[in-house]
Amino acid sequence: MMFEEITSFIRSVFNTPEGFIPLHAPYFGGNERRYVLETLDSTFVSSVGEYVNKFEQMMAELTGAKYAIATVNGTTALHLAMILAGVKPGDEVITQPLTFVATANAISHAGGIPIFVDVDRDTLGLSPKALLRFLEEHGALNADGQCINKTTGKRIAACVPMHTFGFPLRIIEVAEICKKYNIPLVEDAAESLGSYYKDIHTGNFGLLGTFSFNGNKTVTCGAGGAIITNDPGIARHAKHISTTAKIPHSWEFDHDEVGYNYRLPNITAALACAQLEQLPTFIKNKRELAHIYQNFFQTRGINVLDEMKDTRANFWLNGLVLNSLEERNSFLQSLNDNQVMCRPIWKLMNKLEMYKDCQCGSLENATWLEQRVVNIPSSVRL
Ligand SMILES: *Cc1c(COP(=O)(O)O)cnc(C)c1O
Repeated sequence: MMFEEITSFIRSVFNTPEGFIPLHAPYFGGNERRYVLETLDSTFVSSVGEYVNKFEQMMAELTGAKYAIATVNGTTALHLAMILAGVKPGDEVITQPLTFVATANAISHAGGIPIFVDVDRDTLGLSPKALLRFLEEHGALNADGQCINKTTGKRIAACVPMHTFGFPLRIIEVAEICKKYNIPLVEDAAESLGSYYKDIHTGNFGLLGTFSFNGNKTVTCGAGGAIITNDPGIARHAKHISTTAKIPHSWEFDHDEVGYNYRLPNITAALACAQLEQLPTFIKNKRELAHIYQNFFQTRGINVLDEMKDTRANFWLNGLVLNSLEERNSFLQSLNDNQVMCRPIWKLMNKLEMYKDCQCGSLENATWLEQRVVNIPSSVRL
């Protein structure tokens, strides 16, 4: 492979003839300074302040969800989503092996046990075919209408697919299968802010959707997260348990269940609001970059990840599908040696020490992708 040509092409795209090129750097070119300074001047930097409300309103508007609840990061958003979906210690939760570790960890934080079911090669997200195959073999509805894993005897309490790199997976089909087996659906939409399936924003296809605003995501506020839902009861409960489950009172301390301190601080929400204002600009810019990459790599016979029919992706991270593990390794070595930051897709969750005993379906596609997919620099260029 022509690594030198690729390296100099990426350098030219980022107008960086030498020095380090990150995988995804944040861009603060809007109202970030103004909003953050406002919180300092007002002293409302912490748990009280208007930016948290504003951020939640903006997220609801942007995603088309009825309700959005801010959290300190994406992992805590997912942890709460697990609790809100009814996951109890000892329950099982179906997810994909090809994801960032936070997905599986949040299941564990709620006391759940992940089950890993294969992804589709073209979407890199949970495969409806593999999900159906797994449930036909292992799933059964009990007298209470709950889905039980016939093999382990445990309850399958939720399903958490993830929209990898912002490319929507076949979420309508996944949602139909979950419905049939009475399994609450929670979308890990951490990477897919601004991504749509048939004009519906990701995160809206099940009971709950969660987002991340970590430093490397499309929109960042340093650290932050959000839950979206269209269920008013779930939304109220989400807000309640994310803020120590305190009963509102002007001076009394009263809490009616074990709550969490997962509230997003106002100073951070200010940053998030300024970033969200720029999302359309960021995505337009990212789509342009994706086209530039596609033109370059396709003429050289290298496969670039692209959005599927009926979907609109945010193109958070661009990715290549190389021919083999050997090629992947030489690619990563060469580009990183030349200070062009590239990363492999994640090691599969079922290979990590803490998840190695979890039940798995056949993971043929996930294994195939694990050996071949790399991400290339994808920052907004403004
Ligand atoms: C970023 C990310 C999260 C959550 O990340 P935080 O760093 O906790 O905000 C969860 N799932 C996936 C797939 C992610 O990429």
